[in-house]
Amino acid sequence: MLLIDAHLDLAWNAVNWNRDLRRPVSEIRLAEAGMNEKGRQAGTVAFPEMRRGEVAVALATVLARSNPRGQTILDFRNQEIAYASAQGQLAYYRVLESLGTIRLLRDAAAMDACLAGWGADPAAAPFGFILSMEGADPIVWPGQAREWWDAGLRVVGLAHYGPGAYAHGTASEGGLTAQGRELLALMHELGMVLDVTHLADESFFEALDRFPGPVLASHNMCRAITPGVRQFSDEQIRLLIERDAVIGAAFDAWMVVPGWERGADVNPPCFLRHAVDHIDHICQLAGSARHCAIGSDLDGGFGAEQTPRDLDTIADLQNLAPILRERGYSPEDIEGIFHGNWRRFFRRALA
Ligand SMILES: [Zn+2]
Repeated sequence: MLLIDAHLDLAWNAVNWNRDLRRPVSEIRLAEAGMNEKGRQAGTVAFPEMRRGEVAVALATVLARSNPRGQTILDFRNQEIAYASAQGQLAYYRVLESLGTIRLLRDAAAMDACLAGWGADPAAAPFGFILSMEGADPIVWPGQAREWWDAGLRVVGLAHYGPGAYAHGTASEGGLTAQGRELLALMHELGMVLDVTHLADESFFEALDRFPGPVLASHNMCRAITPGVRQFSDEQIRLLIERDAVIGAAFDAWMVVPGWERGADVNPPCFLRHAVDHIDHICQLAGSARHCAIGSDLDGGFGAEQTPRDLDTIADLQNLAPILRERGYSPEDIEGIFHGNWRRFFRRALA
């Protein structure tokens, strides 16, 4: 079944992790022999597996933080450098487009054409990427959003981890900055979609109040099941449902099951069915399956050591279908979760 994945950091993996995504996952793992940093030798995402998993369309990110005190490969001393890093990631998508591997989807018609191509020839149709930005620091000043829009950027999350130039992200506390308010207004004028994933609670509520345009949560789970600020409370989920948002389920184990700790020797069991618990929780709050979908985050800085045990590569997302069926979901609902809900959302948001 065709799948739309609302969160993959493909270019960051290619450019910052130096991964050749044309090679199968098994080869990328072998090529990292001797590299013992977290996530190395354990990648789960590459184009052959995306094709096998029928991931026809993805929200493909550019990802770079401005954080002068940061020590990770994500953190840059200022926004200009974060911009340059993100532009490098965009260059990767551009050359893939020139080579015919992908299409950057700028509007709903392009998405529909891409999905039709997969219907006709799933072995060779180009992947469709909707360009998104995880944390808006690479927009150096609000007015620069226009340049990014012209380059194809359609979905923007205001912050990632910690305080950013525009808002407070995960593990920090506070609302939007003055620049963040300005950026939101301009995003709306341009027709951009707001991704509320990673916003600190206060920033989340303020952004929803201020932004009248289409809103999604690309990769987010439920606080009622897995406590912690990275997940949404039921109040937040209800607000998103009221806004007709769609929420993508992520497959990073510490967001899926309570008590799972990154790097711990022993962790509670985590399987795909545990991620389905979150999907089901949102469906129960909504009274329908219209607001749930997938935003796997599978290449977000971790590997198979941190995914559900029955997920070795992104192709295994297809195994969600029988689990949903067993839980009583209809074929129409499962199709909605796999691709129909994102398709409906973007048909309107990118009309
Ligand atoms: Zn993320």
